[in-house]
Amino acid sequence: MQIYWTKINKIIEETPEIKTYLVDCPEGLTWEEGAHIHLGLEGFNAGEKPNRSLVRHMSISTLPHENSIGITTRIKEQCSEFKSILRTLEVGSEVAIFKIHSNVPLKREDKNVYLLSSGVGLATFRPLVLDYFERADNVNQIHSLNVDSSKDFLFTNIFESASDKKFTSQFVDNRKDYYEEVKNLAADKDGLFYVVGSDEFLVQNIEVLREQGIKPEQIMLDKREQQLPEFLSFDLPI
Ligand SMILES: Cc1cc2nc3c(=O)[nH]c(=O)nc-3n(C[C@H](O)[C@H](O)[C@H](O)COP(=O)(O)OP(=O)(O)OC[C@H]3O[C@@H](n4cnc5c(N)ncnc54)[C@H](O)[C@@H]3O)c2cc1C
Repeated sequence: MQIYWTKINKIIEETPEIKTYLVDCPEGLTWEEGAHIHLGLEGFNAGEKPNRSLVRHMSISTLPHENSIGITTRIKEQCSEFKSILRTLEVGSEVAIFKIHSNVPLKREDKNVYLLSSGVGLATFRPLVLDYFERADNVNQIHSLNVDSSKDFLFTNIFESASDKKFTSQFVDNRKDYYEEVKNLAADKDGLFYVVGSDEFLVQNIEVLREQGIKPEQIMLDKREQQLPEFLSFDLPI
């Protein structure tokens, strides 16, 4: 496993609680839209075993041609050791990046694509949408639906409806409106539904989508293939 130590080159305050850390792209490193990394903080591999409290999975919120690896995360006042250290890092601080993998590349199957996310989960979808704007081949249209109770919505300059691009974006601030809208979107029985958020959020979305007749193979989760059956093969309650 290759570990890349690299430097933070910019920190963007997206909202009062959400920051994007842009880190230098190690030479030769590339990734697909929808990819995630392991982000390690100084000392994570100092002992015999890696210190898990200094490592987190993070989606890459940028595309390779943006020349930086973007990591977008929410840091609340009450937070983990990992986030409390991350919060103190500055431009020039070193972080480690390893194990890059994409579970959710944009499928180009001539279908309508629905991107369902909660909060900072939208970061996973930013590169998918940028990739689609650059090349819409074999994607009918994209619709994004994001729920964030803080009402401080992310990336609103990109997630802005544009009929010429066949892109629609919706932000809601409560779960009731969110699931009502998911039901409406699920009227498209041939769509592809990507879902990103907490495991509890995934389970609820899958339940609503399955109730509306969406099949497991139409639902894309940011999980490794081995983990998918845990979420996608279950019997609906009668
Ligand atoms: C494939 C994949 C991609 C991912 N991509 C991203 C991504 O792009 N961005 C991202 O942010 N996360 C992402 N995650 C999730 C990420 O790995 C972390 O699990 C998540 O950010 C939570 O971080 P944390 O454990 O450091 O907890 P925190 O975010 O610090 O805390 C989680 C919750 O617990 C509360 N809490 C924590 N500590 C305390 C305390 N001491 N006292 C009281 N309350 C406390 C916090 O307020 C918060 O509500 C991804 C996960 C996977 C598997």
